[in-house]
Amino acid sequence: MTPYWFTNGLPHIWRPYCQMKTETPPLPVVATQGCRIRLADGRELIDGIASWWSVCHGYNHPHIVQALEEQLRVMPHVMFGGLVHEPALKLAKRLTEITPAGLSRVFFADSGSVAVEVALKLALQYWRNKGKPKKDRFLCFKDGYHGDTLGAMSVSDPEKSLHKAFRNSVIKQYVVDIPADEYSFAEFDALLAGVHGNIAGLIIEPLVQGAGGMRFHSADILAEIHRIAKKHNILFIADEIATGFYRTGNLFACNEAGIAPDIMCLGKALTGGTITLGATLAQEEIFEAFLDDDPDKAFMHGPTFMANPLACAAANASLDIFEKEPRLKQVEAIEAQLARELEPCRDLPGVVDVRVKGAIGVVQMEASVDVRALRPKFIEHGVWVRPFKDIVYLMPPLVIAPEELAVLTGSIFSVIASEAKQS
Ligand SMILES: *Cc1c(COP(=O)(O)O)cnc(C)c1O
Repeated sequence: MTPYWFTNGLPHIWRPYCQMKTETPPLPVVATQGCRIRLADGRELIDGIASWWSVCHGYNHPHIVQALEEQLRVMPHVMFGGLVHEPALKLAKRLTEITPAGLSRVFFADSGSVAVEVALKLALQYWRNKGKPKKDRFLCFKDGYHGDTLGAMSVSDPEKSLHKAFRNSVIKQYVVDIPADEYSFAEFDALLAGVHGNIAGLIIEPLVQGAGGMRFHSADILAEIHRIAKKHNILFIADEIATGFYRTGNLFACNEAGIAPDIMCLGKALTGGTITLGATLAQEEIFEAFLDDDPDKAFMHGPTFMANPLACAAANASLDIFEKEPRLKQVEAIEAQLARELEPCRDLPGVVDVRVKGAIGVVQMEASVDVRALRPKFIEHGVWVRPFKDIVYLMPPLVIAPEELAVLTGSIFSVIASEAKQS
């Protein structure tokens, strides 16, 4: 039975990334548990993408639920201007302890995109405060994605990203391919040697570019990009909103390359995927550039719901779980199973690559898939999988059981195989 709220409310909702004229209706959801999403008609779907990559501990983890309930009764929200509270200060201390060396200051934001905006603004004002206001552009990478707000859009891939329509309305940045060999690194080095006087920082999704196309680069490449950025006095901003919290195998993707970014953005799995929160961490040296008798040198940013106590309590509970439960081992097991079970897709018509990194499994198709045809087929298999462009991928909760993961990988093989047969 279709719920009344679905019928009544649907004509008033504007849905994300969606051509509302042609898109099929969304599915009414009534509950979540573990790795499953329960629909209003009673069906259950295994979630293969962890609610946009955020639900790392599975849905409704009792420890986070309890932390949220307790915080809810005491203080769901209080402003962060002139006031501080235990959940935020505890979280700030813990984040600086687990993130790469030297990231000692945390600015809380209310989403990933805003955490990126904060990172960009910090980098711009850092140079202004240091007397180098001409360093006011960013270097970013093709296939990159850093969020949906204007600043974040400006550093995402201008051609391929979800933001094509706004290409001419955002600040032009330097957009280059991720260097891959000695030759392209020499070019990259030469480019930065020429334009570093105009560049405040570079921003990168370390190891895995997510929404821009699920592309991987090696830890060596990441380390080399970092080295060249530092050589030319350019701030290195790591957007770990998707890669953080073991998604690529290490607690943070930067760890695999042994680098410490100047600025780092967190979001998505930060609260275990329960409630929105972003964080921007900076090296002490960056923070110090804002300390001055001149009030204009202060960092001018402060979202209304900054450091929301509920969100910080959820994030603290999520960190407790990371300390107690064997996520690293689970990611290793997921990586092995994804590699084993997605590999057969390589022989299917239309598939050009299969790649796995941590708890990310990607089947790369030759051309854009017919998303509208594919998505309902996954529902028939009892799974929640959302291909986009030429990518069919899995980023399941890190707690997914091997049997559930097998259903997900099996569904990908079957759906791609049945598509191939039809065309
Ligand atoms: C999702 C994402 C963002 C944006 O986060 P929101 O919470 O959706 O604003 C930014 N950067 C990366 C790498 C992301 O994957």
